[in-house]
Amino acid sequence: MNDTFRPELIRTPPDTAWSLVRLSVGDAVHYPELWAGDVAVVGGGSAGSAAAVMAARHGAKTLLIESGGFFGGTAAGVLDTMYGFFPAGSEERIVGGIGWEVADALLRDGQAVLRGNTYGAGTGVTYEPEALKLEWDRQLLAAGVTPLLHSRMSAVIMDGSTVCGVIVLTRRGPFRITARRVVDATGDADVAWAAGSSLEMPEEKRRVQPLTTTFRVGGVGEPAKTPEIHRLMAEADASGEYRLPRLEGSAHYTVLPGVYHTNMTRVAGIDPTNPWAMTAAEIEGRSQATEYARFLRDKVPGYEESYLLATSVWIGTRETRRLLGEYVLRKEDVLGARQFDDAIALCGAPVEDHDGGAGTIWQYVGTNGEGGPTGKSYGIPYRCLLPVETEGLIVAGRCLSATHDAHASARSIAQCLSYGQAAGTAAALSVSADVRLRDLDRNALRAALVADGVIL
Ligand SMILES: Cc1cc2nc3c(=O)[nH]c(=O)nc-3n(C[C@H](O)[C@H](O)[C@H](O)COP(=O)(O)OP(=O)(O)OC[C@H]3O[C@@H](n4cnc5c(N)ncnc54)[C@H](O)[C@@H]3O)c2cc1C
Repeated sequence: MNDTFRPELIRTPPDTAWSLVRLSVGDAVHYPELWAGDVAVVGGGSAGSAAAVMAARHGAKTLLIESGGFFGGTAAGVLDTMYGFFPAGSEERIVGGIGWEVADALLRDGQAVLRGNTYGAGTGVTYEPEALKLEWDRQLLAAGVTPLLHSRMSAVIMDGSTVCGVIVLTRRGPFRITARRVVDATGDADVAWAAGSSLEMPEEKRRVQPLTTTFRVGGVGEPAKTPEIHRLMAEADASGEYRLPRLEGSAHYTVLPGVYHTNMTRVAGIDPTNPWAMTAAEIEGRSQATEYARFLRDKVPGYEESYLLATSVWIGTRETRRLLGEYVLRKEDVLGARQFDDAIALCGAPVEDHDGGAGTIWQYVGTNGEGGPTGKSYGIPYRCLLPVETEGLIVAGRCLSATHDAHASARSIAQCLSYGQAAGTAAALSVSADVRLRDLDRNALRAALVADGVIL
């Protein structure tokens, strides 16, 4: 049995171990300037890439800062299916704009297919991740965004309560970026945290979704169906010959022949902002991936000739720090299919909570928590992107302002693309109108979004 997980690796840094994350304008001038402009987007995942393209298309001089070597984030490095374009239980698309432009380009190029979800989360767009990376390169350059890879935002520059730039750490040392608006699309709310905005912290509530290392296997024939795989998993785990902490999860076909993408492993009880815990999680995730791949090859019909092709670029983080913004989206809003006057996006994805032990909780929009997909959707207010105490900053992506339960619905890729579109557009419009982000005319913002293909 493959059993490399050693919980003693998980050490918590002492509370005093805070780095310097907030600089005044006066202190920041000691760092050499790398870039200055209208909008700096931090984090080049789905939300950040969408934000940067839309800010630039609206005329803002825009920089996109990403710590890794490609754009697309979790969608390109961990996953291969975008959910959220279609609500659960309906084929009527509810997300358009830049998100659908990207998905549609992949579909038209034969780099993606529409695929029904096994659990009823709605139809997904299953794409080739390498093609997604290239599509973002193309979109960003066409829009005139300045892309900056291999640069990690390490501190925020503040003028009182206003964010006016960030420090990025590069291999040539730290540099200063100044911008009239900053978009926090880091997924983990790194900028909002550094700026001192109110956040819900994973270590406080002790209720955070588990992490998953996805993996791909090649050489798959005609595989057994998911219920049969689950039955075989339980049998293999009970035999004591395999260590399978999650007795469900799925493997699905991809656009590549014989290649299957999985979502099976589960590493729970981790605060993803703790570097020691994340180190242990990466090691454990890889170990589990190897074990599940061994199980598939040994026990599942259709996988007899299969082999492990790759594990995800990093372990997938579902949830970390989240903003506590002008509005906090709640489970009642989600299940009640609530609409808002300042909605900037729609979502029809179920609450998909991997929090509970070896299983997953599913609750659908437009139900009282029981019953299946309804095809309904709810609105996400602009206020969910706005910090209460901080100016010059807007948040996009999975660190939006939502409770744990609401977040378990609102975090799909298509929605993160929408939040990015709204944040980038709002940042650019607030610069050109010279108003604070929170004072931006919300009807004008919504009109601009609709003009750009957003469905509201
Ligand atoms: C295991 C797992 C399975 C999932 N399955 C699905 C699914 O099948 N379909 C679906 O639609 N959704 C799924 N989700 C949810 C969805 O993938 C995410 O919520 C979404 O991709 C988040 O997008 P984002 O842009 O907010 O963040 P991310 O894509 O995580 O992007 C954040 C980016 O910011 C960068 N970054 C972070 N900090 C810094 C910094 N300080 N400086 C510079 N750059 C930084 C990161 O490198 C990253 O590229 C899943 C999530 C997980 C973890």
